[in-house]
Amino acid sequence: MTDPARPAEAFGRRGGWLHAEAVPVAQIADEVGTPVYIYSATALTQAFDALDAAFGGSRHLLCYSIKANMNLAVVRTLVARGAGVDVTSRGELFRALRAGADPSRIVYSGVGKRDDEIAAALEIGIKLFNVECRQELRRIDAVAGSQGRLAPVAFRVNPDVDPQTHPYISTGLRTSKFGIPISEAVDAYAEAKALENVRVIGVDCHIGSQLTKLEPFGDALARVRDLVLELRAAGHGIEVIDVGGGLGVVYDDEVPPTAAEYGAIVIDAVGGLDCEIVVEPGRSLTANAGIFVTRVLYEKDNGDKHFVIVDGAMNDLIRPTLYQAYQAIEPVGPPNPETRVVDVVGPVCESGDFLAQQRELPVVGRSDLLAVRSAGAYGFAMASQYNGRPRAAEVLVRGDRFAIVRKRESLEDLVRGESIPEDLLT
Ligand SMILES: *Cc1c(COP(=O)(O)O)cnc(C)c1O
Repeated sequence: MTDPARPAEAFGRRGGWLHAEAVPVAQIADEVGTPVYIYSATALTQAFDALDAAFGGSRHLLCYSIKANMNLAVVRTLVARGAGVDVTSRGELFRALRAGADPSRIVYSGVGKRDDEIAAALEIGIKLFNVECRQELRRIDAVAGSQGRLAPVAFRVNPDVDPQTHPYISTGLRTSKFGIPISEAVDAYAEAKALENVRVIGVDCHIGSQLTKLEPFGDALARVRDLVLELRAAGHGIEVIDVGGGLGVVYDDEVPPTAAEYGAIVIDAVGGLDCEIVVEPGRSLTANAGIFVTRVLYEKDNGDKHFVIVDGAMNDLIRPTLYQAYQAIEPVGPPNPETRVVDVVGPVCESGDFLAQQRELPVVGRSDLLAVRSAGAYGFAMASQYNGRPRAAEVLVRGDRFAIVRKRESLEDLVRGESIPEDLLT
């Protein structure tokens, strides 16, 4: 019996074997090959619906932060539920539109927007530019002027709070490259108001990613609320508050806020300001809607260390080595009751090429499949072809059906666009 409030786990075991919804993971690996990313459409929609419900009756828009997982089918799944999209480049804007996003639900963040990127976003009529410095504001004004358009803008303010996460994904400290210091905001808004081709409509803030505590959100939002009141007193019409993304997920034993707790703290801080609340969730919608599946190639002992060498590597999934991130790993088949402490490593020629280090895992052998959990965010999105490795395939599952939503790259894909200028070589 399926309780609609507690639907079956997206990736659970049936008869000992790991399934993606109702499809055996081993079947996908056999048909599509490895390494492969597998996403659950049901998990994506459930994560979206839970966050959407957390904002309940307050006027809000969830703009999915597309950088977490940019696959068109994934984006479409969320857009079909009513998501807008948060983009940080022209390429992401292109992807959002391809996936069917409504331009009036697209917000454009990012610390270094080029003129052509600003122009493209203006032409399609996006909802909001989150402006990260005053020079950028002047460029947006100039480009909008040349198009005879009015650009809707918010400043991304940096509230100088420590989000207590990995330094590479902390963005709200005064020392980070993001946003303008909140102490300079009043001046910056005054400058914006004097420009002809921008319309100041909001305030934006994003302090970091994989936040597992509510306090940094609360502290940042309290500062944003004070700023909104100050700006209104100075005559600015603030209609939108963009609270950014960053809600953490469970990789290991973290206890991140629930969607409901997160929604409550946002509404508590800024709900009374009669503004539309924009949220930019990335990881919290996609991380646990995906797994990364890889096959064991070899095992190797070197004295006191045991290595499991798999066909997936840091070029496919860089989080473990880039952020020293933990992602759970389990065998796809029935787990052997006997365990061993191993390093799970890929074929890339770097000692930093690992998916796990010193991890106690059920004993596996050559050709066994391993599933790396929580791989739906910042997994394929950060993949490269390093070491001449075609990027993995991506698969979307719903119920008992699945589709390849990105083909495995071919060898030809590795050299696409390259040429050898013979006359320069002699
Ligand atoms: C990366 C990013 C997000 C999404 O962060 P998550 O931690 O994945 O939710 C939202 N907004 C901005 C501006 C970002 O850079």
